[in-house]
Amino acid sequence: MIHFKDLGLVNTREMFAKAIKGGYAIPAFNFNNLEQLQAIIQAAAETKSPVIIQVSKGARNYANQTLLRYMAEGAVEYAKELGWEKPQIALHLDHGDSFEVCKSCVDMGFSSVMIDGSALPYEENIALSKQVADYAHKYDVTVEAELGVLAGVEDEVSSEESHYTRPEEVVDFSKRTGCDSLAISVGTSHGAYKFKPEQCTIDPETGRLVPPPLAFDILHEIEKRLPGFPIVLHGSSSVPQEYVDIINTHGGKLPNAVGIPEEQLRRAAKSSVCKINIDSDSRLALTATVRRVLAEKPGEFDPRKYLGPARDEMKKLYIHKIVNVLGSDGKA
Ligand SMILES: [Zn+2]
Repeated sequence: MIHFKDLGLVNTREMFAKAIKGGYAIPAFNFNNLEQLQAIIQAAAETKSPVIIQVSKGARNYANQTLLRYMAEGAVEYAKELGWEKPQIALHLDHGDSFEVCKSCVDMGFSSVMIDGSALPYEENIALSKQVADYAHKYDVTVEAELGVLAGVEDEVSSEESHYTRPEEVVDFSKRTGCDSLAISVGTSHGAYKFKPEQCTIDPETGRLVPPPLAFDILHEIEKRLPGFPIVLHGSSSVPQEYVDIINTHGGKLPNAVGIPEEQLRRAAKSSVCKINIDSDSRLALTATVRRVLAEKPGEFDPRKYLGPARDEMKKLYIHKIVNVLGSDGKA
């Protein structure tokens, strides 16, 4: 058993409480490699933003759970070297799908875990989420649970159909599970293809797809029933069209990739939404840069020469999200 506090990590309780009061949201960035983690920590340290670094099942399969945990421990020390005296970094399990996986992360030094029972029948979701919360709370590890189903595909989490969270269930669910935060479904979606073209309208000026708006009425109804309770939005990448264009003009093929407009996320961040998950945008930044650099310098074969610029681009993206979308800069 390794406790997260011994690694210099923090859980999400205090960061969420401050975020709700302050009308901003904490960034939750996924990582599975060195360059992503460097970019996240540099961005958070420079902007003094609390940050959640999160590990999905795909990341655990790709990079190994133990290695990722030690990278997170290193990230705390790295943040201090960058001049961030008291780094507020939470290490979070994204989409844990069983009690055993959540337990192994708690035992290994994660400071926060998500148990995703959203595909289960309601009562089974409650039983599983409660089992995880009861265990995690013994070690002061915070727990995110989920109600409602998001559409989209990302890292082995996939669903064809979304259904919005039912506001009438949220009080009963949060009380009976004891979860510390609740991921809800109000129209965000995993991956870089969040909406089918037929769900969108077309911007007459740019010819680009305009996605349908988030269901703010449902979000407000949930807020009313659970005042001050931390709400989480998954699948909240904006799929910047400049990255999609760079990818598509340098040999890539991402037709009709579309995300959540940033002004909608800005609006959500001011509500009781206090954790916003962003993964695809960083993948796009990395891929766009690698494609561009390799096209411009076809003789390059030193990975540092294309992953370095990709890291710089991801850092730019993370700072932009922190400062211009979530408003978490200067809060740590
Ligand atoms: Zn998710």
